[in-house]
Amino acid sequence: MKLAIVGAGVAGSYLGNRLQEDGHQIEVFESSRKESHWPVCAWGASKNMLETFSKDVGLNFDNYVLHRGKKLRMDLPDEKIEYLDLKGLVTYDKYQWEQDLCQRLRINYGFHCNPESDFLSNFDYVIDCTGFHRSLLPRSPQDFIIPSYEFLVENVSGIDEFYVIGYKGARGYFWFFPLGDGRGYMGAGDVDRKYYGISEFFEKNPNAKILRKIGRPIRLSPPKRMLPFYNDNIIGVGESIGCVFPMLGEGIIPSLICCNIFIDVLNKDSTFDVGLYEKRVLKKFGYYDDVYRIVRLKMDGKLNSVKHFKLLMSMYRNMKREEKRFGFGIDFEQMNRLLKAL
Ligand SMILES: Cc1cc2nc3c(=O)[nH]c(=O)nc-3n(C[C@H](O)[C@H](O)[C@H](O)COP(=O)(O)OP(=O)(O)OC[C@H]3O[C@@H](n4cnc5c(N)ncnc54)[C@H](O)[C@@H]3O)c2cc1C
Repeated sequence: MKLAIVGAGVAGSYLGNRLQEDGHQIEVFESSRKESHWPVCAWGASKNMLETFSKDVGLNFDNYVLHRGKKLRMDLPDEKIEYLDLKGLVTYDKYQWEQDLCQRLRINYGFHCNPESDFLSNFDYVIDCTGFHRSLLPRSPQDFIIPSYEFLVENVSGIDEFYVIGYKGARGYFWFFPLGDGRGYMGAGDVDRKYYGISEFFEKNPNAKILRKIGRPIRLSPPKRMLPFYNDNIIGVGESIGCVFPMLGEGIIPSLICCNIFIDVLNKDSTFDVGLYEKRVLKKFGYYDDVYRIVRLKMDGKLNSVKHFKLLMSMYRNMKREEKRFGFGIDFEQMNRLLKAL
């Protein structure tokens, strides 16, 4: 098939390689210019999953790992502190990973596509991998995003592990994700746009040097709230259709899982069964809607551990089942403590 992929982020670059390998004719359109194409992300994810995804496209994930986490410190309201045992959470060179995949593809940089872009009609299907922008699909009335920005910093001393500050009411969090050699991503997502922790970080680290300041909102609404996934010959994959874990704003692995569902459905038949794709994405990410409801209830001060016990159990059971995919230990008592403290 002749396929256009719009957006050369994590989903677009991976999907392009997999589909090209399967014999499809692929052309990619990316709005950034080649020299300024940079993945806006803190580059943290579970190595357990990324090893497999990397292997699928002929890459050795070990070559990209920057920091292997052992413990994540989480500061909570009222001076409480929790430590998460990390079981595979790493930071990796997401820029290089995507660059290595992009090199094998025919990419048209500096092409900002929209549904009226004429050249897209030359393709059997156009895949919207534009992430948060969802540039080709209709807006969803249930879309919910959280503003965020971050700094790539170097010359940081006194902190060399994953560190987050959870905001009251789960309205966002501050993060520092180490990249090794005194470098890291430091930033925050915050519904209230106060971004507590950022100026405090610079006060504590006066020698920290800013290498980049980047930002964009993160989508928290899960696939169930991001319908439609398709429109005519346009099909959404990745964050554009809500493949982001709502509690954390973590979208690398969910987007790649979504790519694999797309590939599976495409290779089943000579035409793409959009209904089957929608069904499978909704099933795979079904419990993300429960997690999203917990986040929104918490944000509105309405989460009640008795009334919402079923929702909380759904989140716990599903996260526990996918512990390896998250890269940290999931413990019921600790999850309760965290939710209570926030
Ligand atoms: C500050 C921040 C930190 C984050 N940290 C993490 C993290 O540590 N771990 C994690 O798992 N997730 C993190 N996320 C979320 C994660 O980065 C995304 O969910 C994930 O990258 C989504 O992948 P994607 O391929 O769907 O979209 P993206 O990776 O966002 O790629 C979209 C691509 O489409 C291009 N594009 C957009 N519009 C158009 C258009 N109209 N025409 C052509 N091209 C277009 C963009 O330039 C971009 O290259 C973070 C997000 C933010 C904002």
